Formats: sequence, structure tokens, C-alpha cells
Amino acid sequence: MAKAKVYKNLIAGEWVKSTSGLTFENRNPADHRELIGSFQDSTAEDVDRAVAAAFQAYSQWRLTPAPKRGEILFRVGEILARRKEELAYDMTREMGKVLLEARGDVQEAIDMAYWMAGEGRRMYGHTTPSELRDKFNMSLRMPIGVCAIISPWNFPIAIPSWKILPALVCGNTCVFKPASDSPLTAVHFMEVLEEAGLPKGVANLVTGTGARTGSALVEHKDIRVVSFTGSTATGRIVAQKCAHDFKKHNLEMGGKNAIMVMEDANLELAVDGALWGGFGTSGQRCTASSRVIVHKKVYKQFVKEFIEHTKELRVGNGLDPTTEMGPVINEKQKKSILQWIATGKKEGARLLWGGNPLQEGNYQYGHFIEPTIFGDVDPQMQIAQEEIFGPVVSVIPCSSFEEAIEIGNSVRYGLSAAIYTQDLNRAFVAMREMETGIFYVNAPTIGAEIHLPFGGTKETGNGHREAAEATLDVFSEWKAVYLDFSGQLQRAQID
Ligand code: NAD
Repeated sequence: MAKAKVYKNLIAGEWVKSTSGLTFENRNPADHRELIGSFQDSTAEDVDRAVAAAFQAYSQWRLTPAPKRGEILFRVGEILARRKEELAYDMTREMGKVLLEARGDVQEAIDMAYWMAGEGRRMYGHTTPSELRDKFNMSLRMPIGVCAIISPWNFPIAIPSWKILPALVCGNTCVFKPASDSPLTAVHFMEVLEEAGLPKGVANLVTGTGARTGSALVEHKDIRVVSFTGSTATGRIVAQKCAHDFKKHNLEMGGKNAIMVMEDANLELAVDGALWGGFGTSGQRCTASSRVIVHKKVYKQFVKEFIEHTKELRVGNGLDPTTEMGPVINEKQKKSILQWIATGKKEGARLLWGGNPLQEGNYQYGHFIEPTIFGDVDPQMQIAQEEIFGPVVSVIPCSSFEEAIEIGNSVRYGLSAAIYTQDLNRAFVAMREMETGIFYVNAPTIGAEIHLPFGGTKETGNGHREAAEATLDVFSEWKAVYLDFSGQLQRAQID
């Protein structure tokens, strides 16, 4: 294999090494013999330089007309579209999702680039009547300053694009710290921004660990917004740090999402949905359908068909076009998932399929686990309550629609939920009753589109939404403006 490249940080428009002089390795999870590259193990000093560059660039970028900022983002969309295949290929190499899904990940960034390019010409505020004569009122969106962008590895370009592109169109600058398991895609994304003509220093990249690089970024005094996606445990730490300095922060965190299959469901469709929702991206999606709550009247039939189809799933290297499920991200995550499977068995859940690591033949070089189904799961078991973030689905029997809703809501997370039913009334009631930010009817819990708000309730989020117009509320601040053209003193609420 060719010698792997050393990739650098992007600070003030220059590709530079870390002051630590250290790098970390990124290896292919499907075949760890392949070294994808070495990346900078950045220090607080690197972070300081990157924030200083973004701080300096902010003075001009915030004054660049929003439609002009939007034009650069439009070019970002075009370059991403041109490089889609290459980016998807490298993404599969570095984090394992099958090529088809990696293409979808890049497509999400393309969609977001075009949407946010359009925001450059919209970014609507309001004009409203005044309660006083000869007075004009309006509200405007204002940029905030330097944004810290911290992302996970499971959507290596989609999630950064959801953060960086709206931040930029609003007139902010940013420093991006990607997950250590997907830094190559982050480097590619920066190259695209450069090629699109983004001025130096407007978007900076520092790679490294969460504990060192991520922490330094969150704590930096000149950071005004922290946009974080990752686990609820890390999000809690980030929130506490932001609270100290009153930094604005949006947190997109874990999920324990449920598909509810009612007795009148189209079972074939529900099984397809459970397969895609449960085992797509090897179950490593925040919106993964990790619980399937099935009405007792159709439970047996559903489970039988679900197992039959799961048995047929082809697990392997995501670059192979016949592969349907790739590896999990790394050895640590593999061990954690296997530990959860052991917990499920101990708790008395019935292991219906899978449960083992795959280690024979080519599997020995990667982090592979069989797609795993537990049946007769009690909703209070740990495997039904905690996010496993792997190809493990808990099937939970229920006796009624009302019970399904109750079980669905019985977790601390609130990201996504779905119902399979032919009954429109029930679908609407479930839509109202589920305590989630996203809801699907006759589709699994995954598959968000970028022009709808994305995020969750309870311990999944902190009240913000990404994507759509909603994301502008994260990256801009409202300014209310009053213009009095009466030529005299007028007093609101008094005159
Ligand atoms: P993680 O929390 O371990 O890491 C996320 C990012 O935070 C990484 O870049 C990491 O380096 C950084 N980080 C870690 N500690 C930090 C600290 N103390 N200060 C600052 N940054 C720090 O999560 P992960 O394993 O990369 O991703 C999986 C998790 O992400 C799952 O819980 C999943 O549900 C969640 N996720 C949520 C969404 C969503 O939109 N709700 C989307 C994708 C993934």
C-alpha cells in the first residue's frame, strides 16, 4: 500500500503542523492494515492561533454582503457535487459506512450548501407596525462572532456542513474540530471551502482529541457560539463549560428511537423499515431505530420475518457494492457493543439473532459484529433504555396503541420516533403524543431532509434545532430596530 500522507491543520488559510509536533493515525475500520493518514494532534496553542485567525477574519466577513457570502456557498455545493464520488469513497475508507450511504452523506452537504446559499438572499427579518404614529419597526439577524464546530464521526461531512454553512452565511467565522475517527473528510471539506473562494481565516480546522483540542476550543474566551453534536455525556460537559461564560451553545446528542408497529401495519413495509432503521450505518446513527415496539397480535409474524431478512444482510467492507452493512467504527466501540449484548443476555432478553463478533477470513482485519436482534425485551431493561450505537435492535411486545406510546416515551432521549399503521387517526395521535423532535409515519426513524428542522427533546438536545431556517437561530442574534420619523418624543406604552 502507498505510504499514507500526513495531513495538516488549516489556520488563517495556511496548512500548518501542530505545535505539539505529534500526529495521530486514522485507520480503515473495515481493514485496519490500511492507514488512511496521519493527522495533527493539536494543542491549546494551535486552538489559540486558529481562534485568533477566525477573530481577525470576522471583522471583514461580517461586512461581506450576505448574498455574496451565499454565492461562495453555492460554489461549495457545485464543488461538492463534482467531488462527490471521491469524497464518498474516502469517507467509506475512513469510517466504514457503505458507499451508497457515504454518497448520501455528501449529498446532504450539497443540499445544505444550496439551501444556505439561498439564505444569503433571504435571511428574513420582520417589519411590523408600531403602536406609535410615524414610527417604523423591524428585526434583523446579526452575526455573532467566532463559532466552535465540534462534530462526531458518523456523518463526517453532513453534520459539519449543517453547522459550518449556516454559521458562514450568517456572517460568522469558525474553528472546526472534527472527530478523530473522521478527519480526512474534514480536510476535504476545508479544501472545498478554499476552492470556493472563502477568504483566509473564515473557516479554520484543528484536528485532535476531544479532551485536549475540543476542550481548549470550548473554553476559549473568544468563542461566542459552540455548536456540538455527539454523545449526551460529552454534551453535558460542553454545556457546563459554556454556561460559565454564557456562550451560546446548541447540543445535538444521543437517541433511543422507537418504531411502533401496530396490528394493522403493512408488515412487509415495517420489516423493511426496521432493517434499514436498525442496521443502516451499522446502527451508528443518532436516529437509529434501536427499539421496535410491536403489537402482540402481529409480534410473532413480525419477528419471524425480521429475523429472516436480517440473516440475509451482507456484512463486509463498505467499498464492496454488494455489502449492506459495514464495520463499526473502532475496537473500543466494538467492545462496548459486545458488552451491551452481554448485558442484554444477563437481563433476560431473548437473543434471536446475531450477538457475535465476526472474526473469520477478511473480517479479522476489521471491527465487524453480526446484526443482532433481541426479542421479548422489557422496556425497562438497560438495552431498551441506553444508546448502544451499534447494530443491535430490541424488539418489545406491547398490548395496545396506548401502551406503545407509553413505552416509546419511556426513555430519557427524544430524537426520533415512527409508527407503522393504516389508521390515520392513530398516526395523528402518535404524532402529537410522541415526545420527539422528529416523527415518521410508515417510514423508519431515519431519513431526515435538510429543509426541515432537525433535533430532539429531553436529553437529546437543549432546545435548538439544526437545518432548515431554524438553524439560523443558532448562528445569528436578533436585533430589534425602531425608527421614529415623527420629529417628536413618542413614548411606547404611555402615549
Ligand atoms: P463523542 O461525544 O464522543 O464526541 C463528539 C465530538 O466531541 C468529537 O469531535 C470529540 O472529539 C469531541 N469531544 C469529546 N470530548 C470533548 C470535550 N470534553 N470537549 C469538547 N469536545 C469533546 O461522540 P461520538 O462517539 O463522536 O459520536 C456518537 C454520538 O453522537 C452518539 O451519542 C450519537 O447519538 C451522537 N450523535 C447525535 C446526533 C444528533 O444530531 N442528535 C447526530 C450524530 C451523532
